[in-house]
Amino acid sequence: MTEVRKPVIVVHGGAGTWRPGRSQAGLEGVKKAAKTGFDVLKHGGIAVDSVMEAVAIMEDEDAFNAGYGSSLNIEKRVEMEASIMDGKTLQAGAVGLLKDVKNPVRLARIVMEETDHVFIVGEGAEKLAKIFNLERREMMTELRLKYHEQQRKALLEGKFELRKLASLIKSYPELFQLETVGAVALDKDGNVAAATSTGGFPLKLPGRIGDSPLIGCGTYADNWAGACSATGVGEIAIRLVLAKTVCSYMENEKTAQDAVEIAIKLVNQRLTATYNSMGLIAVDAHGGIGAAHNSPNMCWAYVTPEKQEPVASLTAKTVK
Ligand code: ASP
Repeated sequence: MTEVRKPVIVVHGGAGTWRPGRSQAGLEGVKKAAKTGFDVLKHGGIAVDSVMEAVAIMEDEDAFNAGYGSSLNIEKRVEMEASIMDGKTLQAGAVGLLKDVKNPVRLARIVMEETDHVFIVGEGAEKLAKIFNLERREMMTELRLKYHEQQRKALLEGKFELRKLASLIKSYPELFQLETVGAVALDKDGNVAAATSTGGFPLKLPGRIGDSPLIGCGTYADNWAGACSATGVGEIAIRLVLAKTVCSYMENEKTAQDAVEIAIKLVNQRLTATYNSMGLIAVDAHGGIGAAHNSPNMCWAYVTPEKQEPVASLTAKTVK
């Protein structure tokens, strides 16, 4: 007989600096997402449905840099990306360079279940969204337009010697709130899943793909280990294959909390030459949860069987 597990969900609304004016909306958003995802699990739903519904809630809120309210690239355009992974089957789906698909995470699920592929971007992905009648939405918000103007100005203001965005971000951290969203869950059958969705890094070059849709980097789930979703500087998570690294620690019997802390330490030790702000959430195969970051904040929430109601915070374990 299969052992019945107590379901858990953890969600994040992004690492970075959450400023007072916006943090309430962030906390409300992650709570709503965690509750939605947990309700799926409570009613016997599977982990994949739970993380997809949780992420879709945050994509619909303008508080986050995912779906509606996505950051703008250097050309003032939205290019969204998302991924989802099922730890039971190791099936995964990812999408990138989306302009107006209302819920990129739902399209990632379609890639996972309805195609033979894992990752579809741009026109092909938009075409798939059309075939499956996914809703469309104008994603650009006044707030992101305002940020874009400020960020561009900062970039151009006498900073011509800057060759990399990292230097700019160090000088103006308040303009680069990351606010990507993600979720990890364990269902009653012991299956784990992870999903992540983002508008990507503000001022990114057109065509830039971050860690969020890359399986193993921003998202990973494996029933033998657990599930992980990352937020922060995508290029850092890509170079350390961070989500899979966290899962490998869990496969080797580390708890979810130990695994995310060790992974953030790894970031701090190995990738110091550039801006390396990162945050991680995880759930292990035993239902333990983990959250850690090296950024000033990470907006996140969780629901466990003991708590039943979402617990949200702007910080988790800060690893220096
Ligand atoms: N990881 C995302 C990216 O680099 C940004 C974020 O987490 O907010 O695209």
